[in-house]
Amino acid sequence: MLERIEEIRSEAGTAIEAAPGTAELEGLRVRLLGRKAELTTILRGIADLPQRERGKVGAAANRARQELEALLERRAADLDAAELEARLAVDRVDVTLPGAPARPVGHIHLITRTTRQIEDVMVGLGYRVVEGPEIEHDYYNFTALNHPPGHPARMLQDTFYVQSHPDVLLRTHTSPVQIRALEVQPPPIFMIVPGKVYRRDSDATHSPMFHQVEGLAIGEGITMADLQGTLSEMLQAIFGEGREARMRPHFFPFTEPSVEFDVSCFQCEGSGALGDGSRCNLCKGIGWIEVGGAGMVDPTVLGFVESSGYDPERVQGFAFGMGVERIAMLRHGVPDLRRFFDNDVRVLGQFR
Ligand SMILES: [Zn+2]
Repeated sequence: MLERIEEIRSEAGTAIEAAPGTAELEGLRVRLLGRKAELTTILRGIADLPQRERGKVGAAANRARQELEALLERRAADLDAAELEARLAVDRVDVTLPGAPARPVGHIHLITRTTRQIEDVMVGLGYRVVEGPEIEHDYYNFTALNHPPGHPARMLQDTFYVQSHPDVLLRTHTSPVQIRALEVQPPPIFMIVPGKVYRRDSDATHSPMFHQVEGLAIGEGITMADLQGTLSEMLQAIFGEGREARMRPHFFPFTEPSVEFDVSCFQCEGSGALGDGSRCNLCKGIGWIEVGGAGMVDPTVLGFVESSGYDPERVQGFAFGMGVERIAMLRHGVPDLRRFFDNDVRVLGQFR
């Protein structure tokens, strides 16, 4: 019996080494160690052997079984590696080739595109594009813009503050960049500030993060007529030839006087009614659409940067600002501002 076990072990060892592939090896495993294998039968029959043979035969059969298991495992690992190598050689993929079919190339987000269009208009008018930090000091976001501590205007905007630093916040408007720019550049200054701003707001026309563009012009002899002309030029570039700009009295802490400005409705040509006589839904029959806020820079604001050359007795100017999402919604008929940030390609893909 012991000799037979040794024979099985030796023959099996040779067969395992010679197995050409994992499939053949698996067949060998069943034949050598399966339920009907000779070695299995021997192990199963040990109890029936004479008492004095049981120990030796049992030990030899078990050792043989363990050896064969180890040989099978090692050969399987070798074959796996060899077969993987072979597969890799055959399936080599050139990842630099275009996919099939080629995927469409991405495009600029509508908000970025709208921002750039506004920038282009203003750069054409001689303005410079300036950017600033989104995490801002209370001083730049409020105080230097004529919102002293406790001023009720601070309550107009729901602000995100940094918990551990109560004087640090996410800017609620792009206006702090005005102060930062005025601190380092003497007059005259003509600048436009695009960027993200943050307020605690979320509904169809508000998102906690949105984009503003604002403009600032300061020099000698700048008047409200210049503001009207600039707005008119800008709104025609954005909304089309022939559009008119209109200003209405309003309040902002950092401008005096302050206005809101409208553009004549581009859907009903300012008449408030559509061709079939029905009320224009875009301007709600008014003929004008609100676009943003503006005004003459409050001399108090210039007082904060007087040391940089902004003597309120000598220079003056205007500022205006608007939400980029609102412009994009108006121009493209998007009903919900939040869709811009859902990153749904079915929505974004419409605005190439
Ligand atoms: Zn209209």
